[in-house]
Amino acid sequence: THKAVVVLGDQLDLNNPALLANPPGQADVLMVESHVESTVVWVHKARIALFLSAMRHFADQLRQAGYTVHYRSLNETGKRSLVGEVELLCQQQGYSELDMAEPGEWRLEQEFLELAKTAKLKLRLLEDTHYLCSRAEFAKWASGYKQMRMEYFYREMRKRTGVLMDSAEPAGGKWNFDADNRSAFPKAGPGKIEPPAAFEPDDITQQVFAEVEQYFGDHPGTLANFKWPVTREQALQALDRFIEIRFANFGTYQDAMWTNTPFGWHSLVSSSINLHLLHPLEVIQKAEAAFRENRVDVASAEGFIRQILGWREFMRGVYWLDMPKMREDNALKATRDLPKWFWTGQTKMNCMKDSIGQTVEHAYAHHIQRLMVIGNFALLAGLVPQQVEDWFLAVYVDAVEWVELPNVAGMALFANGGRFTSKPYIASGAYIKRMSNYCTGCKYNPAEKVGDKACPFTTLYWGFLDQHETMLAANPRTGLMAKNIARLDDAQRTALRQKVADTFENIEQL
Ligand code: FAD
Ligand code: SF4
Repeated sequence: THKAVVVLGDQLDLNNPALLANPPGQADVLMVESHVESTVVWVHKARIALFLSAMRHFADQLRQAGYTVHYRSLNETGKRSLVGEVELLCQQQGYSELDMAEPGEWRLEQEFLELAKTAKLKLRLLEDTHYLCSRAEFAKWASGYKQMRMEYFYREMRKRTGVLMDSAEPAGGKWNFDADNRSAFPKAGPGKIEPPAAFEPDDITQQVFAEVEQYFGDHPGTLANFKWPVTREQALQALDRFIEIRFANFGTYQDAMWTNTPFGWHSLVSSSINLHLLHPLEVIQKAEAAFRENRVDVASAEGFIRQILGWREFMRGVYWLDMPKMREDNALKATRDLPKWFWTGQTKMNCMKDSIGQTVEHAYAHHIQRLMVIGNFALLAGLVPQQVEDWFLAVYVDAVEWVELPNVAGMALFANGGRFTSKPYIASGAYIKRMSNYCTGCKYNPAEKVGDKACPFTTLYWGFLDQHETMLAANPRTGLMAKNIARLDDAQRTALRQKVADTFENIEQL
């Protein structure tokens, strides 16, 4: 055959449109493991292992389905890039036509388009059916608004899909139950939390572990706690367990944090959806069914579905609309380097120690830890967006650029100047104190902005208000913040600025 289907590491579904268009016999399948993809950023071992193990399992599935699969493992590809290896395979096997589902990542799509030109290949990119809103549909929606807002997009998606709708009305009478999704855990602690599904590494995964240690031994993180689903079958089991046992508490405690409670009541489905082991619609439908059968309340169901039908699709749309600019944006002109302890979690700030610590251990942190602890610190400290983006792309099992980048640059860092957020998401230590037990036993005091025990979050929060006072005063959504900083007298300002300077001076020792 002169034709091949390229399957990327995050397109692992037999319903991949390029596979559906080419049944076994009509085209061979190419799958490539590349050192380059694992070293573009300093990738966490667990993320590398998840991708490689899931790819190898999927290649077996393709062979069982009758495909001829040319699979190039790390041992074989050497220093060649993914696209370079595909080019070589085309030469060796004499392919002149390539089909693939459109890549999730902008850079890879550019590289494949370039390859098609230089190698004179007939490349067909098929619209990826693993999203509920296509790139074109999103662009069309966005063109109707001066300011893109997730909430309006989400309502459109609810109407269009009929998800959580009672004919023309939103189920439960409201579009959004966010206000019911913000409880902290009780003072005494979260109590017993049913653990998420866990899968013991099989032979394929063990082999991958050995190769990860061989090639990427110095990379961050550990494989010791690796229990992630690596096949569709496991991903479905994990999803079912979440829906049956953990979902009912998800909504209430979505934003809650607690020491040594890495997963809370979260679903942990992101890596499986991102690799296409699960389709977002099937996840949403199972969640809606649980609500319709009265097994979870509307706030939990809506809170969960909003993340997938709303935020996830919205982020993808924005990514394709704004790339490659999004990757370069630095609206607040941040210039500070990422502290070294971001890679180890060795800091005295309890909240950062716990959130980064579990990231190193599990390659997982939930949304509020990413946004309001780690991302918030990065924003307040003025860390260079590209360094922060590289870090977020490296350390989570679910990290793929199309969803990581808009979350980091757009939501956490305000690096795009508020293209889809109405204001920077900043908070002082008081917020972290309210939503967690991190401050108990921390050497810092969240209530102090200057003085010996001042919490770095609180100091830098006020420092941020001071530095960006004009911008904040000009925006009605942040006018109150500007008023708060305006209240400081000269002596207080001087003391604050001194403390901020000290904090930056000692940033590696915080
Ligand atoms: P749950 O809390 O159980 O939520 C269910 C699902 O909703 C998730 O699996 C995910 O598919 C979707 N979802 C929730 N929030 C978002 C969001 N803000 N954007 C898009 N989808 C969302 N998610 C990634 O998949 N990959 C990333 O690289 C990534 N980087 C992030 C970086 C930052 C700074 C922030 C603030 C968020 C990031 N997110 C990312 C979004 C979100 O934090 C994760 O999807 C979530 O924590 C994954 O855990 P979970 O599956 O237990 O999610
Ligand atoms: Fe984090 Fe500050 Fe609380 Fe310590 S006091 S845990 S640094 S918010």
